Amino acid sequence: MMQVIQTISELRGVLDATRARGGTVGLVPTMGYLHDGHLSLVGRAVEECDVVTATIFVNPLQFAAGEDLDAYPRDLERDRALAERAGCDVLFTPSQTEMYPEPMRTEVTVASLSAHMEGAARPTHFAGVATVVAKLFAIAGPCRAYFGEKDFQQLAVVRRMASDLSFPVAVVGCPTVREADGLAMSSRNVYLTDDERAVAPVLHRALTAAAAAVEAGERSGAAVRAQMTATVAAEQRADLDYAEVVDAATLEPLDELRPGATVRLLVAARLGRPRLLDNVGVTVPE
Ligand code: AMP
Repeated sequence: MMQVIQTISELRGVLDATRARGGTVGLVPTMGYLHDGHLSLVGRAVEECDVVTATIFVNPLQFAAGEDLDAYPRDLERDRALAERAGCDVLFTPSQTEMYPEPMRTEVTVASLSAHMEGAARPTHFAGVATVVAKLFAIAGPCRAYFGEKDFQQLAVVRRMASDLSFPVAVVGCPTVREADGLAMSSRNVYLTDDERAVAPVLHRALTAAAAAVEAGERSGAAVRAQMTATVAAEQRADLDYAEVVDAATLEPLDELRPGATVRLLVAARLGRPRLLDNVGVTVPE
């Protein structure tokens, strides 16, 4: 039976007891409205850890005024059933007052990694993410924590935060889970109208075509950016926010794609109401 826990002290008690008897802890932070992407993280945690905790918390700190905090999709009963079926041992569903009993005066920011791409579009977003993840790490204690490559910049921010602050947490990145037509799964995909949903795979198409160009010998970051931009621009409904070619480790934009380099291609576009994000990795051939 999966345990549903709402308080920090009870979760600490369960996870401390797990470690005291020699068990390992897996942590899967989410904002709920679970889909197969989230459940793949749970599945990996179940393979690698003794007690798996998924957390569901729609974190107000990472939403700016005017963003979709109130409209963000929620369905706790469904999430509960999906998490249990996926093998979760504990579901942590704290209230806002449990997480933030007083206005937060402390903020965790990860410089430089948070500045461009998503950070440029949403200037306060990554501080909100880094702060809540630091808090979840402090609550959970020593563990392995699972994050999706779907949010590649977020994964880099979280990794760096955990390392800079010496959290006893191994951050594990997991591959993006997609719909059959390539669209990356996201809780926000429910905002898409049927027409927008039909167009949405253009992001993945732009990324895979650009990755194929790199594999076929393209060595100019600007050319790869231009190719992705043109693919997305061909769809009238899609409003491209950025198309980037970066070093996969540092997230620095690349102009010259050197042989052997590990590169990440990232795009973000607004499609009707939601902004969609996607990315793929490619290694520049020798
Ligand atoms: P969210 O609930 O959107 O904040 O996502 C919670 C976690 O699930 C984050 O680590 C995301 O990167 C990850 N995630 C979301 N969508 C996917 C996906 N399609 N494939 C893999 N991981 C995902």
